[in-house]
Amino acid sequence: MIKANDPKLRSWVNVPEGSDFPIQNLPFGIFSTSNRSERVGIAIGEQILDLVAVAEFGYFDAIRFDKKVFNQPTLNNFIALGKEITTSVRNRVSELLEEKTKALQGQAGAREKCLVKMKDAQLHLPVHIGDYTDFYSSIDHATNMGKMFRDPENALLPNWKHIPVGYHGRASSIVVSGGSFFRPKGQTKAPDANVPSFGPTKSLDFELETAFIIGKSTQMGDSISTEKADDFIFGMVLFNDWSARDIQAWEYVPLGPFLAKNFCSVISAWIVTLDALEPFRVPGYKQEPTVLPYLEYSGEKNIAIHLEVSICPEKKSETIVSRSDYKYMYWTMEQQLAHHTVNGCNMNVGDMLASGTISGPEEGSYGSMMEITWRGTKPVKMSDGSERKFINDNDSVIIRGWAEKDGVRVGFGECSSKVLAAKE
Ligand code: MN
Repeated sequence: MIKANDPKLRSWVNVPEGSDFPIQNLPFGIFSTSNRSERVGIAIGEQILDLVAVAEFGYFDAIRFDKKVFNQPTLNNFIALGKEITTSVRNRVSELLEEKTKALQGQAGAREKCLVKMKDAQLHLPVHIGDYTDFYSSIDHATNMGKMFRDPENALLPNWKHIPVGYHGRASSIVVSGGSFFRPKGQTKAPDANVPSFGPTKSLDFELETAFIIGKSTQMGDSISTEKADDFIFGMVLFNDWSARDIQAWEYVPLGPFLAKNFCSVISAWIVTLDALEPFRVPGYKQEPTVLPYLEYSGEKNIAIHLEVSICPEKKSETIVSRSDYKYMYWTMEQQLAHHTVNGCNMNVGDMLASGTISGPEEGSYGSMMEITWRGTKPVKMSDGSERKFINDNDSVIIRGWAEKDGVRVGFGECSSKVLAAKE
């Protein structure tokens, strides 16, 4: 086990019970305050460790790299240093924050400059995302969609168990948790109408997803094996891939998702490293029929991450509408990456590859309103008595996720966003 993941570690920084950010996590993000420009930080309890300040005090002197990478508005240049450096930085921070280490703890002046209260900080999009790909890798989600829209007896298309199906998304409209966006407008066509009409979507939906951030670039022509894939994955975030189902239904043939998907997607602010998630690896689904050799893998490559979605109408309390888990993925991140690069497609640091909607096998664990309300036929009740088939104006949708084992909870914080009425 990586020492920084030891469940016995405790920090001298207060970590409240149930916090997503104990010393075993140490996720990276970008923050600013009224007197600190955008820079790299690490979440610990309810505080942020300012890595610019930590470097200025010389606490990273034993690790050789240009410390300027911390004083930048994205993590790209830091991540590009490679895991040898980024893992060493996380390990060093673990050492510094460990309760017996006095180096920083014992220096009141330095301590004050290095720690910032999270509530006084603004969190920013942590990476410049060059390219974004979305997969369709949850078997329960793909089966539900197939049952609803095609044939209940043959819900999965013939390619599904052979190819991690995916499409290229759009990076420009990916934003960090905590913001709002306008309900998208577009063309839709009701089944009984002869011609399409134009207007705000009537079926705005969330997609419960996670995504991983590429940590190492490749050249065109290179392929990444499932065995080497983890070297290329820096870490994970929660991801809400907002979708307009009525626009999607009319536009998607024959080239797939377009305007129904590219108006807003939201990620959580902290990138949880693959290092921090290693203790939570679990076996995946048995893959039958056998996959082609370039997709074979060994070992436990799924990860148990409990996922929850809640809807919060304006000025009301939240209602949890889904409890799912990342362990339900059929295709692993390693297989997705091997597949994505098998043709020689190159990857760049900061690229983001998303899971696709993550549904579990049972009702209550579905990752979209489309499935939860079964195409709107079974509305869900909110705690304020109102009902939802899809997401209303002024509703916020909040995704939370955490891995938990041996009394350690490695969480992601929130991935939240609010829907505003369509822009005039
Ligand atoms: Mn999606």
